[in-house]
Amino acid sequence: MKFYAIIVAGGSGKRMQASVSKQFLLLNGVPLMMHTLKAFHQSEIQPEIILVLNKESISYWNELCVKYSFTIPHFVVEGGRERFHSVRNGLLAIKEDGIIAIHDAVRPLIATHLINKCFKEASEKGNAVPCIKPSDTVRKFNDHTSKIINRDKLVLIQTPQTFSAEQLREAYRQNYSKKFTDDASVVEAAGFSINLIEGNRYNLKVTYPEDLELASYLLKR
Ligand code: C5P
Repeated sequence: MKFYAIIVAGGSGKRMQASVSKQFLLLNGVPLMMHTLKAFHQSEIQPEIILVLNKESISYWNELCVKYSFTIPHFVVEGGRERFHSVRNGLLAIKEDGIIAIHDAVRPLIATHLINKCFKEASEKGNAVPCIKPSDTVRKFNDHTSKIINRDKLVLIQTPQTFSAEQLREAYRQNYSKKFTDDASVVEAAGFSINLIEGNRYNLKVTYPEDLELASYLLKR
């Protein structure tokens, strides 16, 4: 069986308010997504890595690889307008069958044991999507007011979301919809049921400046 990881880094990271996209920001002296690629490379499965970058950042990334002597093997693919299009481009680069994990480049604290678990579960059940329970109380806007939601019925979804190549290819034949904010939503819309597994609270998605500080602290530990 072949194993692949599509690492998506095609976004512009507007919420970080930095001139450099968040995936290139330095995290403990190294561009953030180098930590991400390293985690996949160090996992038991050692998947083939496909890195999706937006067109404008490909030469910058190549310069960074030289500057930081980054030698982990990976194949670069050009990203698309939305995350959906970036994943689809990554998927088109994979010609064989197997198991494919899709991971946000901006989750550099991904644990190798969670990577292994996702691949193992997806091999057995068709897919595996990590999630954690919210610890905050959650309310939903309702015109000018808001209403509480029962948080016991909610989960927060993480990556790597891992699927058989067959499921993923069928799902990504659909047209883009605004509802597709992750891969599970695309696969679900194609008629497959989603197999949730326990994620990891350290698997932060670096989105805001505070997240970078926290990731730096956690990585040093
Ligand atoms: O937009 P969001 O923060 O949910 O992005 C999650 C991941 O998807 C990030 O790693 C980002 O770089 C990636 N992405 C992408 N192509 C886009 C938009 C986002 O690869 N067009």
